[in-house]
Amino acid sequence: MSDAINDALQRPLASLRLSVTDRCNLRCRYCMPEDEYVWLPRTSILTFEEMERLTGVFAGLGVHKVRLTGGEPLLRHDLPTLVAMIAHNPRIRDLAMTTNGLLLAKHAAALRAAGLQRLTVSLDTLRPERMLAFAKSARHADVLEGVAAARDTGFANLKLNTVVIRGFNDDELADLIEFGRRHDAEVRFIEYMDVGGATRWSMDQVVSQREMLEVLARRYGPIEPVHPIGGDDRAPAERFRLADGTTFGIIASVTAPFCRTCDRSRITADGTWFLCLYAARGIDLRNPRRLGRGAGVPHPGNVAGSQRPRGGAATRRSGPGCPVPDRFAARRPPPRDAYTGRVTSPPDPLSTLWRGGMHP
Ligand code: SAM
Ligand code: SF4
Repeated sequence: MSDAINDALQRPLASLRLSVTDRCNLRCRYCMPEDEYVWLPRTSILTFEEMERLTGVFAGLGVHKVRLTGGEPLLRHDLPTLVAMIAHNPRIRDLAMTTNGLLLAKHAAALRAAGLQRLTVSLDTLRPERMLAFAKSARHADVLEGVAAARDTGFANLKLNTVVIRGFNDDELADLIEFGRRHDAEVRFIEYMDVGGATRWSMDQVVSQREMLEVLARRYGPIEPVHPIGGDDRAPAERFRLADGTTFGIIASVTAPFCRTCDRSRITADGTWFLCLYAARGIDLRNPRRLGRGAGVPHPGNVAGSQRPRGGAATRRSGPGCPVPDRFAARRPPPRDAYTGRVTSPPDPLSTLWRGGMHP
């Protein structure tokens, strides 16, 4: 039984995504397609001490899983120090990180020594020329080196994230599974999500979970679902097993959103707390403390438990667990202030939010 605080839909607030930087050294077309971005000023980025304190507050409310993300988390100087600070909290039972892997070979050992427990490396393609075209980087070998270093350093349950995009890498599903098998890593295919206007997302580029399973079944034969036994039934990925025992996951955020079981909230690099990836507005947890107002940080429990459902600050609510179930039909209403009901028009909340560290 979870001791986490519940939201109005009785979903526990058990898992926290913490973005440690908004910067990135790749330009994935589905995430940060532009050459140049205006990054957050350094002074507005949370310090390690602020992140440690916030994590402690959330841990006191039942959060026991923390995932470091970005931007690219390994661009944050001295990251193992932050890892050690968070790992020191006995309430955090699972400390993980998602990285693009470019700098991982250099830092894997220090991260593990500092207390990082799990790693996910993003790997969309096994073909360097595709990465060059798609993420504007010729450093594919560094990513592969990062995967090998993670495995050699002893990270258990290594995962590989692959965003599947029609016409880009949808012919590599089996190759990636084979690669994962060779490197003792489990691949998680992610349906391509709409995270903001600049990425030129369109539904026809989305390869659905169903289609992925059909392609893989043609190659490998029958595929069976893996049901979590005492495992994490709130994980976003549905897991499957091939006849030879190889497992893989699919995160079907587009065709089968997992809102009903979602236990995640997210803090961006500048300390804004979002209860839902599709929320248009978040709650500032940084300034009240920096400006010396009140008792430090707003108490997340006041927001999560009683006032509104997860995603309630947003009009972009998604999926069957949310108050607006018609995710696609209703996905572009003008954002509305949750308190006054007034229509507001932020420039592009989704892309801003994503760069601050959102992910499935
Ligand atoms: N930079 C790190 C990385 O790429 O692993 C961490 C941050 S990144 C935003 C986290 C994850 O989100 C990555 O695995 C990435 O592939 C995934 N992602 C980014 N844009 C996406 C999109 N439009 N649809 C689905 N997944 C996406
Ligand atoms: Fe950077 Fe990760 Fe976004 Fe790619 S997905 S641009 S690596 S933050």
